[in-house]
Amino acid sequence: MRRIIAGNWKMNGGPGSVAAYAAALRAALMNARLIVCPPFPLLPGFAAALAGSLVELGAQDCHASSSGAHTGDVSAVLLKEIGASHVILGHSERRANHSESNAVVNGKVEAALAAGLVPIVCVGETEEQRDAGEAEDVVRTQLTHSLPAGFAGVVAYEPVWSIGTGKTPSEADVAAMHGAIRAALVTQFSASGAAIPILYGGSVKPGNAAALLGLPEVGGALVGGASLNAADFLAIAAAAPKD
Ligand code: PEP
Repeated sequence: MRRIIAGNWKMNGGPGSVAAYAAALRAALMNARLIVCPPFPLLPGFAAALAGSLVELGAQDCHASSSGAHTGDVSAVLLKEIGASHVILGHSERRANHSESNAVVNGKVEAALAAGLVPIVCVGETEEQRDAGEAEDVVRTQLTHSLPAGFAGVVAYEPVWSIGTGKTPSEADVAAMHGAIRAALVTQFSASGAAIPILYGGSVKPGNAAALLGLPEVGGALVGGASLNAADFLAIAAAAPKD
């Protein structure tokens, strides 16, 4: 299966960063699927700059409703209309900074699926939870409550303590968690749970990408900081196994 390499720009970049970045991605010969997730205002510019290419476009959040009195929010329907194919939901920064519970994430995932977007749903434990031996239980609970019945999307395992820190779990810990997530998805969704891609996210860089992307059940990467530089993002994608 082609690995998915998704870049989460977070609250970075501006109109001046779109053209060169899109051109670099368009020019690259990739056996991985590339998804760029810039801030909302850059989505139309990226949609135009990537038109006709295989590079896909994602947003970083959406609202659970399709329209209405929700100042500052953006609907999944509108994201689809302006050219997004994916949306990151339940990122730990939104769970922490915007008090997004599993139930809130679940509602957003439903909205994304109804609008025809592919949700990339983030789960992951804090350092304290890992130290207490609770990591797998925490992640299983997030999956059970964040993913609605009939979920057809992508899961991203992102240990909170690894995001933006340069620290990554050991390869054994990543493999163990991805195996646990796969088992949980099959329990939750039967046969279709076996086909849900599971990305790893947390300080993925060109230097560690090959090792992480080669682990069992790692279907790709969700990349934050390193995705801001097109050359680094493409180097990560180039490290993906070709099977
Ligand atoms: C992220 O925010 O999804 C992420 C993985 O960030 P970073 O790669 O910078 O750790």
